[in-house]
Amino acid sequence: MSSASETTRDRSEELFARAVELMPGGVNSPVRAFRGVGGTPRFIRSASGATITDVDGRTYIDYVGSWGPMILGHADPEIVAGLQEAATRGTSFGAPNELEVELAEEIIDAVPSIEMVRMVSSGTEATMSAIRLARGVTGRSKLVKFEGCYHGHGDSLLVKAGSGVATLGLPDSPGVPAALAENTLTAPFNDVASLEQVFQQHADIAAVIIEPVVGNMGCVPPAEGYLKAVRELTSRNGALLIFDEVMTGFRVARGGAQELYSVMPDITTLGKIIGGGLPVGAYGGSRELMRNIAPAGPIYQAGTLSGNPLSMTAGLVTLRRLRDLSIYDRLESATARLCDGLSAAAADAGIKTVINRVGSMWTSFFNPGPVIDWTSANRSDRKLFGEFFHAMLGQGVYLAPSQFEAGFVSLAHTDEVIDQTIKSARDAFKIVGSEGPKPLDGN
Ligand SMILES: *Cc1c(COP(=O)(O)O)cnc(C)c1O
Repeated sequence: MSSASETTRDRSEELFARAVELMPGGVNSPVRAFRGVGGTPRFIRSASGATITDVDGRTYIDYVGSWGPMILGHADPEIVAGLQEAATRGTSFGAPNELEVELAEEIIDAVPSIEMVRMVSSGTEATMSAIRLARGVTGRSKLVKFEGCYHGHGDSLLVKAGSGVATLGLPDSPGVPAALAENTLTAPFNDVASLEQVFQQHADIAAVIIEPVVGNMGCVPPAEGYLKAVRELTSRNGALLIFDEVMTGFRVARGGAQELYSVMPDITTLGKIIGGGLPVGAYGGSRELMRNIAPAGPIYQAGTLSGNPLSMTAGLVTLRRLRDLSIYDRLESATARLCDGLSAAAADAGIKTVINRVGSMWTSFFNPGPVIDWTSANRSDRKLFGEFFHAMLGQGVYLAPSQFEAGFVSLAHTDEVIDQTIKSARDAFKIVGSEGPKPLDGN
């Protein structure tokens, strides 16, 4: 392949060659490097509405949406104008500002179990802080997480952590002390009996953390009654329940998965959408619980850029727009249209796929299905996915470069955009079905 690409070397390839000398793997977050699908990642120059455009001028219909935040679409005019205006007033104060109060009000109004919230700068920071809070108030050490769920890259959480880790085939990360990993117990998702067993065997459990709809092994919804059972078990055993809604918050419903399934956690973590595309995270719960956080209480947590006025601005514009609940009906129908079309296209090409979807979060697994947990997700045909991914890229559709990620539909994905995607998929499935050439280079 490399001989052919010498002559046609494009700007993305040039930049990637420079980047690998400067940054580990050429990227600042692993899955961007395309290792799950092979080939060279596209460097993106700009984005608008439902599309992104690379440095070679190729435009793609985008289903990554920056991994979830871009629910309004890219470069939303109101967000851009808000940011321009806010920037003229200064980009960081390290002191309280009015926007933080307004965003806190917006979150507390929307998310049923949150009465008080603390802003941080990433989802990782949110989950790390939520765990500290749970350990601090219970006086217990152990944490339960589910196989294939990802909660950011905190030490305690890089155990059977789905997508990025799974795609790279790293079972656990070096650099996580065994003493810390020992405090993390894992159980299969959607399996009540296993969780019961964990509680029978361990008394020292501070918290159970869960993606209430998993996005990070691909989209895997909770089975009927599963979240209620998890709630019941944690309460009965004196452990706190953490819903990691960094992805699902304001995505599967305005009030997140807890609203959709009517199950209330003790602590909720947020990120992604609440920052409207700027760096952000948050964690919240009852006033009683949150008053344990410094300076109201003894559990320490801080952040130089927390409550950053630009992040708060983009978040506020986004959350205020999402007050219009008809938006969720639109996202539902657009994503149903997409998934029905993709299913039909795969079936017509004689390729076995199963699509999981909750609202505008979805994954098409190259797998006979059903996909209900990490074991079943892991049976997916990664090679076929990689071929499909590249065929779609060639057709101008940018999917997440891993089988184990959720796709996202935004408000900018009109029916025309969806239909164009389905048409591209019909062609892509044909290429995959016919064993055409594939750009897997294994680097
Ligand atoms: C993205 C994500 C995180 C991590 O958020 P970052 O902002 O990348 O640190 C944590 N939990 C879930 C469920 C996520 O999807």
